[in-house]
Amino acid sequence: MFLEPHFKGQRSGWIEVVCGSMFSGKTEELIRRLKRARIANQKVEIFKPKIDTRYDDKKVVSHDANSILSMPIEHSSQLLELTDGVNVIGIDEAQFFDSELPEVCQTLALRGNRVIVAGLDMDYKGNPFGPMPNLLAVAEYITKVHAICQHCGNLATHSYRVSDEGGTVVLGEKDRYEARCRTCYHMGNILNLKVVEDKKEEEVKKPTNQQTLL
Ligand code: ZN
Repeated sequence: MFLEPHFKGQRSGWIEVVCGSMFSGKTEELIRRLKRARIANQKVEIFKPKIDTRYDDKKVVSHDANSILSMPIEHSSQLLELTDGVNVIGIDEAQFFDSELPEVCQTLALRGNRVIVAGLDMDYKGNPFGPMPNLLAVAEYITKVHAICQHCGNLATHSYRVSDEGGTVVLGEKDRYEARCRTCYHMGNILNLKVVEDKKEEEVKKPTNQQTLL
């Protein structure tokens, strides 16, 4: 478990990143750290991108409904204007922010802020997600949390999209995604491709009504 190196008395701030797949407990970990900072009388503010409105406009809501109030913002640069007098800055769903987020976080850390960022490290295709890889490169502390693979029970690192919608940003929960280990994630993709190919083959083989009539 991550233990804060210190709450107070340091001249400079730092960046922490909590990353992992869906259902890995990223937001719960972010909330845990923010609540501890509050106990230490730190002024805490939480932000999230405006795109994520799954549950509530003003709350960071984790899957176990252990929520904390947050502010939805359009662009990462707003963090610089909205954090006067704040000690600890929490950022949730960071993968949906613009590419300036790592730079903004570094500015905030230089100002003396403790910045805690939570986000998906990979999209459903298994590629690094948005500003997350650059954030991971510049962070002082990184925690990768794991879900449990819904197929085999091993540690899960991948978010497998169950639905067949395209596009990187498809908001959803258990109706659209499953946490999977590397093997089950890739097996799923291979089987899925096979299903698509089988369907195509069937369509080619199956005579259309018109052909039957002829
Ligand atoms: Zn598995």
